[in-house]
Amino acid sequence: MYRSNTCGELRASHIGSEVILSGWVHKLRDKGFVAWVDLRDRYGITQLVFDEERTSKELLEQARELGRETVIQAKGQVIERASKNPNIPTGEIEVLVTELTILNTSLLPPFTIEDDTDGGEDIRMKYRYLDIRRNPVKNNLIFRHKVSMEVRKYLSDQGFIDVETPYLIKSTPEGARDFLVPSRMNEGQFYALPQSPQTFKQLLMVGGMDKYFQIVKCFRDEDLRADRQPEFTQIDCEMAFVEQEDILNTFEGLTKHLLKEIKGVDIQEFPRMTYDDAMRLYGNDKPDIRFGMQFGELNTVAQHKDFNVFNTAELVVGIAVPGASEYTRKEIDALIDWVKRPQVGAKGMVYVKCNEDGSYKSSVDKFYDQEDLAKWAEVTGANPGDLICVLSGDANVTRAQLSALRMELATRLGLRKPNEFAPLWVVDFPLLELDEETGTYHAMHHPFTSPKPGQLELLETDPGAVKANAYDLVLNGNEIGGGSIRIHDKEIQATMFKHLGFTPEEAKAQFGFLMDAFQYGAPPHGGIAFGLDRLVSILGGQETIRDFIAFPKNNSGRDVMIDAPAKIDEAQLKELHIKLDL
Ligand code: ASP
Repeated sequence: MYRSNTCGELRASHIGSEVILSGWVHKLRDKGFVAWVDLRDRYGITQLVFDEERTSKELLEQARELGRETVIQAKGQVIERASKNPNIPTGEIEVLVTELTILNTSLLPPFTIEDDTDGGEDIRMKYRYLDIRRNPVKNNLIFRHKVSMEVRKYLSDQGFIDVETPYLIKSTPEGARDFLVPSRMNEGQFYALPQSPQTFKQLLMVGGMDKYFQIVKCFRDEDLRADRQPEFTQIDCEMAFVEQEDILNTFEGLTKHLLKEIKGVDIQEFPRMTYDDAMRLYGNDKPDIRFGMQFGELNTVAQHKDFNVFNTAELVVGIAVPGASEYTRKEIDALIDWVKRPQVGAKGMVYVKCNEDGSYKSSVDKFYDQEDLAKWAEVTGANPGDLICVLSGDANVTRAQLSALRMELATRLGLRKPNEFAPLWVVDFPLLELDEETGTYHAMHHPFTSPKPGQLELLETDPGAVKANAYDLVLNGNEIGGGSIRIHDKEIQATMFKHLGFTPEEAKAQFGFLMDAFQYGAPPHGGIAFGLDRLVSILGGQETIRDFIAFPKNNSGRDVMIDAPAKIDEAQLKELHIKLDL
């Protein structure tokens, strides 16, 4: 028997009992005639004591030699501690060791295994197995486990069946590049790793499995923006015989359950907002509604004077920053520099200080009088003491820029509180999105998303105006889930492919299996997928998903621990009939 108890288990009530503990040497304190070892395992730390008087000199000598992270087994008696440590659950006791076995030695770890380690990100990733011994990482993994168990419990209780779908498949259209896997047995042919199980879950609906879920890895070969992983986990779900309303209610239920069980937060009904409103009021299809600062469109109240910058702009739009009228010239200049950074890309920023005495002071006083500025304040909802920040230009671009500024200011003002939760359904997404470069339309969600009833004809005349039965669940400014009601009719699906620029032959070659299946009584169906990594990190009150993944990849998509991706040898390439052209 390696252990009778864990290192996090023993309390005053155990005093007097004989125990065996196993774990890692966390720390050694040597006082000459007595030495203490903090023994650590997943469950906590227990203090071991080696005492030449109460046990033996040999044992004490042995303990003194113990290096950090040595794996040991210690047998002894639980005794009351002379100086108790109220900061840890085992702080009332210690174990007087009578037998010590070294189970394994350890090299000196490249960073300290402490909550606040001296190890930088790179070194911790290289030795991730040591990093996982640290509380912050370990606790995040345990937290993730709790979330996925609650997901499974809830969905299973609702009658959902967990079905696995294959990883070696044909391309799925989620808008990214596929990771490809050469097939040795089928010369010159490749599998694609699923960007999501989308087509399979729809086929499961045709198969009559009317409530499906799976916690599943998805693979997308995208240029890695901050906090994206090439492989990530989805809670993937699909239901048959449902309308949008059924899906929203079911998964609102799941999210409420998680917020309650995991965070103890009770949220009543989730608000809903159309995509158009989200863009107009927040410049963003995933608005953080934990705080205000809604956009105020100023065209009608700002385009009547000689200020050409505004007069020539498609959109003039502002936000009122609470309590920021006191910003100094220097602080405002820094803000202007911030919006002019290439990442944001604004040409400049106009501001209005709404003074406490009700007067206004702006950077465009030359063009606008107090009465004008009062109207701006009204439109942006500014109160005395606020600062109005105004951007202008092309509507879409300006909205995105002001959205970035809104988020930045909210962060600076401490308005993005990690323990406040503001879910929001964004509904009525456009079906198609215009690719400015190629001038062609592609599916905003994916090609299987159904248009709103009665809007199919619009596809011919005004494709950009067609709205979809598609929805996103947003939590604290992050898209945590997205889905749609699907097309289940072969003809409509064929029309959709046509509008997306597929010839009938291309559509058949790529998605013939789905169209075929639709001929055999496909039920109306729809679904959603949640990004588990992000959901867990938001529930955990943190921003980076990497902290909640046991073995994540870095920003260049590398696993620095196992050193992947890596070259493969000639023989292996040959077997796959692959020649490299580097
Ligand atoms: N497959 C979609 C995605 O990964 C989700 C869905 O439509 O259910 O975004």
